[in-house]
Order: sequence, then structure tokens, then C-alpha cells
Amino acid sequence: MRQLIAGNWKMNGLLAQLAELAQPLPAASANLAADVLICPPATLLTAAAAILAGSRVALGAQDCHEAQSGAHTGDLSASMLRDAGARFVILGHSERRADHGETDAIVRAKVEAATIASLVPIVCVGETEAQRLAAIQNDVVTSQLRGGLPDGYSGVIAYEPVWAIGTGRVPQDADIAAMHAHIRVVLIERLGSSGRDLRILYGGSVKPSNARAVLALPEVGGAMVGGASLNAADFMAIIHAAA
Ligand code: PEP
Repeated sequence: MRQLIAGNWKMNGLLAQLAELAQPLPAASANLAADVLICPPATLLTAAAAILAGSRVALGAQDCHEAQSGAHTGDLSASMLRDAGARFVILGHSERRADHGETDAIVRAKVEAATIASLVPIVCVGETEAQRLAAIQNDVVTSQLRGGLPDGYSGVIAYEPVWAIGTGRVPQDADIAAMHAHIRVVLIERLGSSGRDLRILYGGSVKPSNARAVLALPEVGGAMVGGASLNAADFMAIIHAAA
């Protein structure tokens, strides 16, 4: 399966940055063996969709509400994001779990809303540093997957250890490989044979200097890139490191 390199811009980016960060991507991705996705803030989706139109670079959002419409001031529904040009949506990112108290049940409801609106969900899971030190990372991730994925889930998983996000710290290769193998087992248990085909991305301080090694690990189906996706040269180097 082709690897997916997803750039998560988080709460960064004004219209002026689109030219620098998104405009070079269609040409740079034309002959790549990997799929490329950018997830800018929702304010930039329409303008980014115009830049990426006709290219192989996909567009995603960073969250959606679990309802399709209604009295939820300030929120955005999955169908609105689809209408603005998104085809993917990141759900359950650890920053949303921490900042907005998102539980696995909320993530699951959002996955269902995204699927109804024909957005491909990218469900993020991962342990905190305290949980890894307590050696309960497999249990934590198992419970996030069991709680967050509805029956018949068809989307992407991103394994993002919380302690590796934005810190410059990356787990040992063997630890990434072990967690991806564990996630694969849980996906097959949860979803049957379709669990074999879902892409499992690694996310957490992926940089040009470590991308090739991370992307070569077994069961790593791509990368979720935060900070380095805000630097055009770095993101370009990472997409070229993908198999
Ligand atoms: C992320 O937040 O999804 C992420 C991977 O961030 P960073 O690459 O900056 O660690």
C-alpha cells in the first residue's frame, strides 16, 4: 500500500503562507510513490483546494463536530468541511483530547459524522510519557482504538505518542515497530480482515533527518508531520523520503 504523508498545520497559517507551503506541492508530488495530504486550518481550506485542484495532493481538516448541523456556535460539521474541499479529517488528536476534553466516545461519534459526510477519518492514538514509563502504552492504545473506532471503521490510524509531539523526541525504532504491530493486531481483532489494510501512520517529531528510518519500519504506513510541515523544504524532504 502507498504510504501517506500528512501535514498537520495545527493553528498555524494565514492566506499568505499558502503560496509558500502549498503551491510547490502539486509539482513536487506528481511522480511520488507516496500519497500527500495537507491539513491546514479550516479558514484556508477553500483557498488550498483551489491551489491543489487537479493534483495528487489531498486536503484535510483537523477536527469536525459530531452533528451534521445545528445550534453549535463556532463549530464546523463534517459536511461543511467536505463542502470547503476537505477529503480527510484528523480526529482525536492528543491536543484536542487535552484542550477540549475529547473522550474516545466523542471521537467515535465524530468518526461516524465524518464517514456520513464522505470524509476519510484519521484517528489519532498514543500514550503520555507517564503511561509509557508505567509500561501501559499498549493498554492505553488498545482502549483508544476499541472506544474510538465504530464497527466497520474504514480510515487511517495515526500512532502519536504524546511525549513525542513537538518535543524533538522520537521513540526507538523498535518501540515504533512494536506499537505498530500491536495496533495491527487490535485492528484485526476489532474489524476483522479489513483491519489488515488500514494505514497506520507514525506521528511525533518526524523531521527530514529521521523520516527515512521511521518510514522504513514494518507496518508504518506513512507519517503525520506537525512542525516540519510548516517549513516547505522540510516537508518536501519528508515526502521524498517516503517509499
Ligand atoms: C502532530 O501534532 O500531529 C505532530 C506529529 O506534531 P510534530 O510533528 O510537531 O511532533
